[in-house]
Amino acid sequence: MTFIPYSCQDISEEDIDAVVAVLRSPFLTQGPMVPEFEERFSSMHRARHGIAVTNATAALHVACLALGAGPGMTVWTSPNSFVASANCARYCGAKIDFVDIDPVTRNMSVSHLTEKLEKAEKNGNLPGIVIPVDFSGFPCDMQEIRALANQYGFKILSDSSHAVGASYLGEPVGRMADISVFSFHPVKIITTGEGGICLTDNEMLAEKMRLIRSHGITRDPSAMSGELDGPWCYEQVTLGFNYRLTDIQAALGTSQIAGHDRRAATRSALATRYDRRLAGLPLKLPARSGDRASAHHLYVIEVDTVRGESKRLEVFESLRSENIGVNVHYIPIHLQPDYRRLGFAAGDFPASERYYKRALSIPLFATMSEDQQDRVIEALTRALN
Ligand SMILES: *Cc1c(COP(=O)(O)O)cnc(C)c1O
Repeated sequence: MTFIPYSCQDISEEDIDAVVAVLRSPFLTQGPMVPEFEERFSSMHRARHGIAVTNATAALHVACLALGAGPGMTVWTSPNSFVASANCARYCGAKIDFVDIDPVTRNMSVSHLTEKLEKAEKNGNLPGIVIPVDFSGFPCDMQEIRALANQYGFKILSDSSHAVGASYLGEPVGRMADISVFSFHPVKIITTGEGGICLTDNEMLAEKMRLIRSHGITRDPSAMSGELDGPWCYEQVTLGFNYRLTDIQAALGTSQIAGHDRRAATRSALATRYDRRLAGLPLKLPARSGDRASAHHLYVIEVDTVRGESKRLEVFESLRSENIGVNVHYIPIHLQPDYRRLGFAAGDFPASERYYKRALSIPLFATMSEDQQDRVIEALTRALN
């Protein structure tokens, strides 16, 4: 039986033609395709500025720097995420800490966040930046987080890597954050091979991020401090990196946006089909809410039996033996050895740890057929009985 991955890209003939056209053009990088992709992606999410970079990890780094992360600042994120959501703070020399999840949404819990902020205010160690993660593509409780940000004075950096095309309170995801970040890795909703983007409505933040993306160098005379030696002049005004996306990648991304509605409809239909077919099994299914629409990046079930932990392992092995690429998202970040070294330990964030022990990501991707999905459902039903 053929292998069914938990996720995979969907590349159309139009996508291939778009990439080939760039290969025949004068610009492989720093040409017209990157601004075009930024324009399309930011208008899709109704943001004023889009700054495309090499990947979402770089996007989180650039966004943290633009928001002022550095020694003396503490950054909070969710333990139920990919390590990049936390590493970005450490790249800047900031201190990292976590806020436990809500077991229903699997996103940062507003009640835990509120409690932790009250404590931090008393102790004088409030965070400068909070990084909520739209886990699996399901938007966070951003209205509540925004109210807390206004009250306690922290910035919101939304890690929306999973949530391309998701919506919240009738608007595209990310609108209430200071900066939102998306990933274009092939397992995500749309791909550029490797790629990421920072969205913001704030002109100053956008300008800072553009500088940091490209060596901290400006060619804009109005942004320079010294004398112009001549028209060839450029100035490095801050320390930046080479985090630029190529035109080859941007062309793929622009073409992927054109095919997004069709792919999103397939993901959504498959997710609804899972919801219906799995309803009778001893599983906890992904949250649904009338005020937001998930991008359905991952379909995560929790094995909800008495011995859920050992049963999860059994189900995992059983599905893998049937060539079904189940996976686990995520090992709580604070339990990674490199985080335990910073002082974090098991028991620090019990909801994330409990969730992790029972979670299983089952296949969901835009090219998945109903026959493939039936194979997953049947194998899962057998493994649970
Ligand atoms: C994939 C992912 C990232 C990193 O994305 P890259 O583009 O691979 O660097 C960051 N955060 C989350 C939540 C992710 O899933």
